[in-house]
Amino acid sequence: MTRTLAEAALEAAGCTRCRLAQGRTQVVFGAGHPTAELMFIGEGPGFHEDKQGEPFVGAAGQLLNRMLGEIGLTREEVYIGNVVKCRPPGNRDPQADEIEACTPWLVEQLSLIQPSVVVTLGNFATRFVLNTQTGITRLRGQVHEWHGRTVIPTFHPAAILHGGGERSRQFQLLRDDFLLARRTLDELAEGPSPQEPTPEVEIAGGALAEPGAADVDQLELF
Ligand code: URA
Repeated sequence: MTRTLAEAALEAAGCTRCRLAQGRTQVVFGAGHPTAELMFIGEGPGFHEDKQGEPFVGAAGQLLNRMLGEIGLTREEVYIGNVVKCRPPGNRDPQADEIEACTPWLVEQLSLIQPSVVVTLGNFATRFVLNTQTGITRLRGQVHEWHGRTVIPTFHPAAILHGGGERSRQFQLLRDDFLLARRTLDELAEGPSPQEPTPEVEIAGGALAEPGAADVDQLELF
């Protein structure tokens, strides 16, 4: 029998599968609607998330909330998670073995939530999910087919805040990507139109240097 997201979160709260358990205040499992159509995947908790136990509650989270509002959504209507569930010390990048240890949680989240659309925030989540080394600048702005779901890569909100904020071109592109997510959700809700040919989609490919092939195999299981 499959368990609920809340049951999985309860078990994850005591997770000691990797060294990140030692430095965390708490596990940041994820937050939002348990059967959301739209799921966001970030990199990993930062300082504020580690303290509050919820993803994207710091400055990057404020920008995420604003972008959600612009497409008529609230945090409660979507699901927000991360590649790793515990804060890496000093906000360093998660390491390959930490990601490998944490991947089963993400796989379980995806298989329980079953989102139709997944927005990957930043290079890290995008490379991990799409199994590619191609950078976010080239991947964003389009939809990618991924195991029957639609992945829309976009910039990490923190990268926008560190790189010029509202006046930057990236800020407008982030907006465009959220609008694309909105359109994609609306189209899926309407169902396929018999007159229109199936749109061409990009199939992700390429080798993944980090976190490693084993993780990708796991992700493909859900
Ligand atoms: N950055 C992330 O990638 N995830 C969070 O939860 C917060 C900041």
